[in-house]
Amino acid sequence: MPSDHQPPGPGLPPDLPGPPPRHEGTLIVGASQAGLQLAVALRQAGDTSPLLLVGEEPYAPYQRPPLSKEYLAGELAPEALAFRTPAFYAEQGIELLTGERVTSLALSGGRGTAHTATGRTLGFARLALTVGAAPRRLDVPGAGLDGVLTLRDRDDAVRLRERLADARRVVIVGGGFIGLETAAAARARDKDVTVVEAGPRLMGRAVAPAVSAAYRAAHERRGARVLLSTAVTGFAEGTPGRVAGVRLGDGRVLPADLVLVGAGAVARTELAARLGLTCAGGIVVDAAGRTSRPGVWAAGDCTAAPHPQTGEGRVRIESVQNAVAQASAAAASMCGAPPPKAQVPWFWSFQGDLKLQIAGLSAGHDATVVRGDADGERFSVLYYRDGALLAADCVNSPADYMVVRKALGQGLSIPPGVAADVSVPLKRALPAPGTPRTPAAV
Ligand SMILES: Cc1cc2nc3c(=O)[nH]c(=O)nc-3n(C[C@H](O)[C@H](O)[C@H](O)COP(=O)(O)OP(=O)(O)OC[C@H]3O[C@@H](n4cnc5c(N)ncnc54)[C@H](O)[C@@H]3O)c2cc1C
Repeated sequence: MPSDHQPPGPGLPPDLPGPPPRHEGTLIVGASQAGLQLAVALRQAGDTSPLLLVGEEPYAPYQRPPLSKEYLAGELAPEALAFRTPAFYAEQGIELLTGERVTSLALSGGRGTAHTATGRTLGFARLALTVGAAPRRLDVPGAGLDGVLTLRDRDDAVRLRERLADARRVVIVGGGFIGLETAAAARARDKDVTVVEAGPRLMGRAVAPAVSAAYRAAHERRGARVLLSTAVTGFAEGTPGRVAGVRLGDGRVLPADLVLVGAGAVARTELAARLGLTCAGGIVVDAAGRTSRPGVWAAGDCTAAPHPQTGEGRVRIESVQNAVAQASAAAASMCGAPPPKAQVPWFWSFQGDLKLQIAGLSAGHDATVVRGDADGERFSVLYYRDGALLAADCVNSPADYMVVRKALGQGLSIPPGVAADVSVPLKRALPAPGTPRTPAAV
């Protein structure tokens, strides 16, 4: 760590009488995408105060997206998922404590204290919560049977990959990104795969109906069975303790020797709530990652934050891009620097050879334009509000995705009439920078 020690930026206010503040530095709870980014951004901003990154998993921070993609497909060793080498942490003066779960936090007298499951006490002057989200469990009979798995972390993925090797019949509960990525990996291994989705369409909260329909057809073409609007009421037991089937609302039982429940993730707000931070489906933060208590920041999947483009309302976004952007904003705020420029949200989900890329947030759209050939598995859906481009879902169309992302980043729109015409490359439809964002429809 550089030697020119400087005190941390704005810290905890003395909210209770007590001894003078001890500046033990910054504690970041949750050592993953957001936590590591926050630590790195603090160092990049010149912060040289002590920095402790604590994570409950036994591994140094690693990438989660490949867990349901390349790792499940057998293309990666778990060690290859790590973001950084051990030397990086030492060079940056980032103390990394793995295998330590923070169980309680207290703020008083301008300082904070954390306790861990192994009995450690950690002092801090500033706190960041980057604790992520946990898979939503199904509260149905048999949910605890052996062979009913979820996928959130590296250990989950190792277990799932091992079980997949021997499984014959795989049922995926939940037709969201993780469920469908897993379905694609299982079909690639020639497993009998059924996806059971409670809602009327796949990825229903995240993509346009045309994309849901195309993905249903595409997964079926690749041999998966897709059941929509179908409730799971429980899991049947075979050999004692082991799953043998999935019970459906209509009384049917789907035989299964492996079940993946991909029913979404819930923000981990327990620590924050006990600390008295405002939580609403996530730890409530502002655009600078500040929570409701001075001296405490939060970033990533655990937060509910203003819409990144409009600054309005509150959204909870689970994506790498969001974790990185929020952590960078929080680090700037901790250093008393202005927030970085707002970023266009983006996301990807690679389901075998189906490459979905999303730019922008589509909430609030009043029109969509489908561009390309949905049956040919190469198309985009562009979303508009009042004629202005909001977002796009791009399927095997990376060029469209790049143009939309660029347009949104520059505050430009693409006339809907031009967007629909596949004979015109989308980049040719981009107006010059500075053109108003709500042009008349062509
Ligand atoms: C299988 C999978 C595939 C994904 N694919 C994509 C994708 O294709 N594209 C994309 O953009 N995003 C994807 N995501 C989402 C992306 O990985 C997350 O948005 C990102 O990891 C969020 O980072 P985070 O640091 O906020 O939270 P997390 O990555 O969840 O990390 C939080 C960390 O905090 C730790 N923690 C929690 N509580 C405590 C405690 N009390 N004490 C100590 N440590 C604690 C947790 O163990 C965890 O390691 C995927 C996620 C998964 C699970």
